[in-house]
Amino acid sequence: MMRADGISRKPGAGKMAKSAKTFTYWVDIVGACNLRCPSCPRGNFMPGDVIKESPPSGLMAFDLFKDIVRKIKRDGPSLNPQIHLYNWGEPLVHPEIGKFIRHVLDEGIYCGVSSNLNYDGTLRDVIQAGPDFFRVSLSGFYQENYGRTHTRGDIERVKRNMRKLRDYMTEFDKNIYVEVNYHIYRHNAGRDLEDMIAFCNDLRFNIGPVWAFFQPLEKNFDLIDGKLSEADRKLLDLYAIRPEEAMKLSMPYKDQDCPVRKWATVINYNGTVPLCCNTFDQNYIVADSFLDIDHEALQARKYAHSACKTCMDNAIHVYLAYGAGPVMDEVGNKVLRDIGNPLEVYQYATPHVVSREKGPLPILARTERELGQRKKIRGMRAFWWRIREMSRRAAGF
Ligand code: SF4
Ligand code: SF4
Repeated sequence: MMRADGISRKPGAGKMAKSAKTFTYWVDIVGACNLRCPSCPRGNFMPGDVIKESPPSGLMAFDLFKDIVRKIKRDGPSLNPQIHLYNWGEPLVHPEIGKFIRHVLDEGIYCGVSSNLNYDGTLRDVIQAGPDFFRVSLSGFYQENYGRTHTRGDIERVKRNMRKLRDYMTEFDKNIYVEVNYHIYRHNAGRDLEDMIAFCNDLRFNIGPVWAFFQPLEKNFDLIDGKLSEADRKLLDLYAIRPEEAMKLSMPYKDQDCPVRKWATVINYNGTVPLCCNTFDQNYIVADSFLDIDHEALQARKYAHSACKTCMDNAIHVYLAYGAGPVMDEVGNKVLRDIGNPLEVYQYATPHVVSREKGPLPILARTERELGQRKKIRGMRAFWWRIREMSRRAAGF
């Protein structure tokens, strides 16, 4: 039976049975970022934009994290949860990040990290700990373009750290799935992209182009309400696919459930829970403590939230999850063609990049599964945990 909160369970069943479907936890172990990207609330949230209050900043305590992982295992809905150690923060700034990663892996859970890679103080420890997934997010190969959309960042430092990342993987013999997420804007999809592809091929890292989008949710609401500031309106001129256009393309899918509500939960560094990974303001906190609310009650709160209606009525939940599909490539590439960009970018199906002069550019762009790097069970503890869960399900608990 599917309930209004998106949780399915058998009629008359007691505690919800765990399913094999992945449920993702975005645990923001650092409530701060070293950069101020203008497409992100860390860069574009001004005091006047705050509805209630800006989130506080800080580092997650390891003891709190251990309690969170314990609770995920106890009342999470999935036999295959994933824990990613970021949301609106830069996780490498946490001095104990290696310990966090080791703990997740020791508990038999998939672990992901995403970084702007401007800071390398913990990088060696992170790679030695060996998360399953490591994403590097960037938006250029040369500082002139990178610095426009990764404000305060230094792409030369990022490139040095990408080389270190590969060296540490070799040193510690770690088979980590590394994905370089290249945010496509109108100004950075030419020589910058081509040179970053060559750089990633050289390092044997996956590079996936993604159409840049406008965050957070609150700013998209302002856009709909015609309340965007002058600075934000100027920012929209950088996008190959403007958010209004992306919402329009997403409208045919607006009645779909929201994947980040149904299949994911965000936990802030202090244990509070926001509505979803797209909200920033404290107004959207749905639970003061992840530890004190069970999974079903938390899902029920999310599903009852009034912001979801506005979001879904405008198909923002589809747009921010890249749910409109290949039509986004068509529209984005038309814009790039019109401004004389030498490359065409395809984010959907098999991601690839085509040069009008040279044809398709060699690009790894293989999924983690294709590379055989997805590991479901780690160690005996995880194995016994899953056996116990299966027995519980068989016994009807
Ligand atoms: S690096 Fe990431 S979290 Fe930090 S400001 Fe930029 S987009 Fe936001
Ligand atoms: S519908 Fe919108 S506001 Fe609600 S959880 Fe999804 S993305 Fe967030």
